[in-house]
Amino acid sequence: MKKILCFMLALMMAMSFSAFAEDGTFTGVGEGGKAGNVSVEVTVEGGAIKDINILENEETEGLGDVAMEDLKQQMLTGNTVDVEAVTGATLSSTAFIAAVKDALSQAGIDPESLVATGETAEAAELEDAYDCDVLVIGAGGAGMAAAIKAKEAGANVILIEKMNNIGGNTLLSGGEIAAPGNWLQQEGVDSVEQMEADLAKAGGNPELDHVLASNALNAAEWLRDDVNVEFEDYMLFFGGHSVERSLVPKGATAVELVNKLWAKVQDLGVTVFTNTRATELMVEDGKVVGAKAENNGKAVEFRAKNVVLTTGGFGSNVEMRKANDPAMDEKILSTNTVGSTGDGITMATAIGADTVDMQYIQTYPTCDAETGALLYVADVRLDSYGVLVNKEGKRFVEELEARNVISKAVTEQTGACSYLFWDEDAMQKSGVAETHKAEYEDLLARGQLVKADTLEACCEHFGVDAENLKQTVADWNQYCADGEDKEFNKRGDLIPIAEEGPYYMLVSKPAIHHTMGGIVIDTDAHVLDTDGNVIPGLYAAGEVTGGIHGNNRLGSCAIADIIVFGRIAGENAAK
Ligand code: ADP
Repeated sequence: MKKILCFMLALMMAMSFSAFAEDGTFTGVGEGGKAGNVSVEVTVEGGAIKDINILENEETEGLGDVAMEDLKQQMLTGNTVDVEAVTGATLSSTAFIAAVKDALSQAGIDPESLVATGETAEAAELEDAYDCDVLVIGAGGAGMAAAIKAKEAGANVILIEKMNNIGGNTLLSGGEIAAPGNWLQQEGVDSVEQMEADLAKAGGNPELDHVLASNALNAAEWLRDDVNVEFEDYMLFFGGHSVERSLVPKGATAVELVNKLWAKVQDLGVTVFTNTRATELMVEDGKVVGAKAENNGKAVEFRAKNVVLTTGGFGSNVEMRKANDPAMDEKILSTNTVGSTGDGITMATAIGADTVDMQYIQTYPTCDAETGALLYVADVRLDSYGVLVNKEGKRFVEELEARNVISKAVTEQTGACSYLFWDEDAMQKSGVAETHKAEYEDLLARGQLVKADTLEACCEHFGVDAENLKQTVADWNQYCADGEDKEFNKRGDLIPIAEEGPYYMLVSKPAIHHTMGGIVIDTDAHVLDTDGNVIPGLYAAGEVTGGIHGNNRLGSCAIADIIVFGRIAGENAAK
């Protein structure tokens, strides 16, 4: 009898879950995406995955959604959920895989019991070698600007990108662009010379800074008129600038900027290869003639008349960071994509290129204390609202100071973090809770942000000294009434904090954001060798280059830099 029972049990197990599988469409939820939950609808037929529909998803546009689409294709072709998270989008990938598994279990299917087809969603078969006029390496903002300009100049252009998505660090930024004399500024409040003076404080190369400042407005107008980037009707006041001059793309993230650049790249018919990592520059008779690359283990050569390096910075390369500034070790979180590993610097120096300012690594002062991500809700500060205090409830730095100054000041405070405190009026007028809704809700859910009726309740949540903060707010409101911040001489508008709640408090920490150092270029974006000579056939633009931002990049000057120098590099490489 016992034997028969065991046999029946074994038989039932062998039939597995799929014996109970129903055909139909099932919904599943995966927790822990970058911006919360991911929901999917999975259609099942005969125990196999027939379709996947991504329902709810606030994952980063152009990054998380591209990763989920990629995983979806792999699951559909292979009839499997045994797929690997996409590098650079691990949280979105994990939540997506969990959501599909959840839907399958609703259908009575054990994901392990799916019969894999063994087929893979292969990238198009690659040739061993390609020829072009201009090879652009790295499809962030600088690379796309360069590719567009080179293509418009009539060149045959190939753009390669090592990740499965385009956008690089540019995509993770706010996308704001500093432009003196822009269409939102009152006439006469700003000038090219004033921006140059602001840039000069960081000790960058004056000639490159002149090119940057004098072309920044033109770059913004090109984005607006030629690339069709839509801008908000307000500006932001980034730390270290002497006036408010930073234009904000629609939605206040770089998604609008990157999507429109990408649309233009595609409209123009630039040949793009993703998942294709350049490994080495090819040199013949002292001239760069292309690059070796690899795509899913396959070696590919791209031969070109000219090469543009736009591979971004090295914020995600801990070894390179430590070699240049030992303080920037693994303990410091980073806002960067995993693609920012300094490949362009390694490839260019291997053929004799010079570097400059490699020791200057910037941290962004108000990043997620748990993940290191940039916090857009904290942009309420850049609208001149709120006070930044320490655990003792005291201000310790000017809220609109340059990033390096604020970051350094924060690291010297208790717990090496800061607390931004603002009121409901600031929340409404800045609109950050609506513009960055997913981030706002996630911060609340994780207790990194608190909304409370009283100042005391905010303080209690984080253990901040409430008595001191009360005094800080009283002093601050007096400075606002006097029209002068007697403690830190805050620039911009001095806006008092309301006598009554609700209030908000956000904890944040500095995280690695931008590497100012990189390859030496001249004003034509030629790469220079260690003797100061042009390396024929090689151009560079964007974060891979050094010398423009000196020891501290001002907010919104990176987008100006990548568009200004990306365009110059693309145009010159096409000549
Ligand atoms: P920038 O702001 O200067 O445009 P980004 O970080 O936005 O810099 O873009 C750089 C891009 O270059 C990223 O998408 C990154 O993945 C890509 N990249 C980095 N190294 C390589 C490489 N070796 N081959 C191809 N692409 C690369």
